[in-house]
Amino acid sequence: MSDAETLFERIIGGEIPADVVYEDEKTFAFRDINPQARVHVLVVPRVRYRNVGELAEADPGLLGDVVGACRRVAEAEGIAESGYRVVFNTDGDAGQTVFHVHAHVLGGEQLGLFGK
Ligand code: C5P
Repeated sequence: MSDAETLFERIIGGEIPADVVYEDEKTFAFRDINPQARVHVLVVPRVRYRNVGELAEADPGLLGDVVGACRRVAEAEGIAESGYRVVFNTDGDAGQTVFHVHAHVLGGEQLGLFGK
């Protein structure tokens, strides 16, 4: 992995403003600037891994922390009961654009089927 800072490290560092909805020692969550559902929050580990597969291999406990943070975000947003989706886009065909692993937490309305 290159050492170049990604956008999300600059958001975590406060250099780029974001609408932060949750943070703890290991994770950081903010609203997606281009929401694809009524609730659309990105959850990222403070430490950077390129994608969810690399995170799972390197630090499965931290992946658990990220998924736990997704649940806490859903609770805070009032969508834990109605249901929500967690998506990790991984590389090209999935459309990953920021190579600092992030979970998309989507909900607040009936979500369509996905695939294409
Ligand atoms: O999974 P992917 O890498 O495509 O997701 C990146 C997400 O980061 C996009 O949904 C985009 O809207 C979001 N983004 C953001 N704030 C920025 C730049 C991108 O929320 N300043």
